[in-house]
Amino acid sequence: MSEASQVRLERQGDVAVVVIDNPPVNALGPGVREGIIAAVKQANADPEIRATVLLGAGRGFIAGADIRQFGKPRARPPLGQTIQDFLDGSAKPVMAAIHGYALGGGLEVALACHYRIAVASAKVGLPEVLIGIVPGAGGTQRLPRLVGPKAALDIILTGRHVPAEEARRLGILDAVLDDSDDLRLAAAAFARRVADARPLPRVRDRSDRLKEAQDEPGLFDATRKSIARRARNQKAPYRCIDAVEAACALPMDEGLARERAFSIELENSDQARALRYAFFAEREVAKLPDIPAAVAPKDFQTVALVGAGTMGGGIAMSFADFGYPVKIMDATTEALDRGLQKIRDNYATSVRRGSVTEDEMRRRLARIEPVASYDDIGQCDIVIEAAFEEMDVKKPIFAKLDEVMKPGALILSNTSGLDIDQLAAMTKRPQDVAGAHFFSPANVMKLLEVVRGAKSSPTTLATVMQMGRKIGKISVMAGNTDGFVANRSRAPFNAEMVILLEEGCLPEQVDKVMVDFGYPMGPFAVGDLAGLDISAAGRRRRAAQNSNYRKLPIADRLVEIGRYGQKTAAGWYRYEKGDRTPHPDPEVARIIKAVAAELGVPQKSFTDEEILRRLLFASVNEACRILEEGKTYRASDIDVMWLHGFGFPRYRGGLMFWADGIGVKTVDDQIDRWHQQYGERWAPSRLLRQLAESNTPFYEAKPAPSSAW
Ligand code: NAD
Repeated sequence: MSEASQVRLERQGDVAVVVIDNPPVNALGPGVREGIIAAVKQANADPEIRATVLLGAGRGFIAGADIRQFGKPRARPPLGQTIQDFLDGSAKPVMAAIHGYALGGGLEVALACHYRIAVASAKVGLPEVLIGIVPGAGGTQRLPRLVGPKAALDIILTGRHVPAEEARRLGILDAVLDDSDDLRLAAAAFARRVADARPLPRVRDRSDRLKEAQDEPGLFDATRKSIARRARNQKAPYRCIDAVEAACALPMDEGLARERAFSIELENSDQARALRYAFFAEREVAKLPDIPAAVAPKDFQTVALVGAGTMGGGIAMSFADFGYPVKIMDATTEALDRGLQKIRDNYATSVRRGSVTEDEMRRRLARIEPVASYDDIGQCDIVIEAAFEEMDVKKPIFAKLDEVMKPGALILSNTSGLDIDQLAAMTKRPQDVAGAHFFSPANVMKLLEVVRGAKSSPTTLATVMQMGRKIGKISVMAGNTDGFVANRSRAPFNAEMVILLEEGCLPEQVDKVMVDFGYPMGPFAVGDLAGLDISAAGRRRRAAQNSNYRKLPIADRLVEIGRYGQKTAAGWYRYEKGDRTPHPDPEVARIIKAVAAELGVPQKSFTDEEILRRLLFASVNEACRILEEGKTYRASDIDVMWLHGFGFPRYRGGLMFWADGIGVKTVDDQIDRWHQQYGERWAPSRLLRQLAESNTPFYEAKPAPSSAW
């Protein structure tokens, strides 16, 4: 596309309108900056033009820089010659007229304009921190000058989208229009009103709001402290604070130079690469290569839940949170009442924490309707079964749902790993059946695994994928294999962490390594939270099906003596009454030693790196097996699952991206050595071997064709 068509100069009487037209989101790709500069120059040279308005064509203003350019060799205009410098220096007023989004580089262009107006539905923000960088085109210097360092830090550190009205209140926008107003006409009228005002109001010239930092000298250190938990191990948030601090302490040009240095330092960092990868991986999951684009997802309005336990309640909340009416039922009124009480308690906690208002809680609760019988849910568009994880419980439910649900309704199961095809076979409409595997707590965790049955129709799958997105989840397609994709790829990690104990590790040692790596909690602490009895039941079931199943005698021993985790105040750790803090327990250390001695396992000590690799390489190998069997579309889908289902640190990209950072050959060599040392459970998958032989990164691994699904 030529520059000419990306940026057009139009006229609205004596006001020039520079239209940025770079679909789909008017990213500041190659040529756009130059196009804007050329158009404004042309307008300024025209004696009949009194002012210029920048306007985005299509859905928004400018959604940001083009992320695809990041990390590649590219020329940055020298400081003093950027588009922001040019706009700052324009002799005639330039005004940003914003609809849709003005994010990142888009807002930075607007901040260099003399005026900014927006329609009410517009959103502005500087989300760069989310991809591991600092706003690099003056955002960290201009925003604090407009809104003060405190508000600027909040916006820059969260990367949040600030609604227009709030942006006006803060001082980012000069005016907010109704959405029904014609933005072009209103902007031209505004521009005419201010056309002759001099001096031009340049953000770079302001310093009044920066005083806030002098009044509160501890502001920056306090901010560093306040993000310590959330931003652990991460560079970009701290650089953002440094940059805003520079804005308050240095003259504008020196501040800009500081920001530029941070921007260059971070753009090629491992963390920024990983975060960019995660950003694109999350977009990639929506692509379903074997489902024709012409297959349209079905619309849905109403949802029913069968089973009001931990998951049923959480899933009901997820729909209610996004405005959908939900009917919920259970086998007994007691269980239903219990479930509803839990939902009320959860919402009450959100109100106490301030994340939901009292009114909003009431509206959400009103959308969840307890019902007594199957007849009450027959007209719903979607039903999700979330009863006990037993085939014998689920099968009759599916038969009943087949009887009562209206034709075309989707019949979904939240099973964690049971065979979807057996459930579908209980109905006369297997094409309408699929898995909708939410993660716990369902109203919080973002992952939705969409499990594809052998007969699930393309429309069903497209609809469930979209259903997840409509309630704020990240939907990822998975094959119908034991544990599906997320839990199956995680299972070897879960086994390995307990096997490490047999060899001389302690739970707190493993947890520390994983927390240092970036997980919010160590896996043993997570186990205590989820309940050790639950995983023991899963192991029993798998052992019954597979005589080679690797038993975990230490974990079994804890369950035998009633250590179920937090609920019994004792599991891998001990807990004080009413407190969730895990304390290492000498009793557990004794049990571990005793079982290891019974098993005759030689004891050794471990480095942190060894612990990390034992857990994660085991899963990388299994992920390769899943790819090899064609149960997932791509390695990056597995990464998205780990990010949103298991709390894998986002700034490490995901399991497979992390492994690529180590190198496929190194992973394969290590797995080979462990195979010789530990036997079958470390047998390298065929795909891993092929990748290592051809030195192909995991990222590029081609799964088997999905006809095997
Ligand atoms: P839960 O025990 O908390 O709740 C199950 C609910 O189903 C109970 O309220 C029970 O009374 C009800 N129920 C049982 N039989 C029923 C029937 N015939 N008709 C209607 N209701 C019936 O269990 P949960 O943790 O919510 O798990 C539910 C499902 O979600 C299981 O399939 C489980 O594997 C899956 N799952 C659980 C998690 C998790 O972490 N808890 C995560 C993902 C998926």
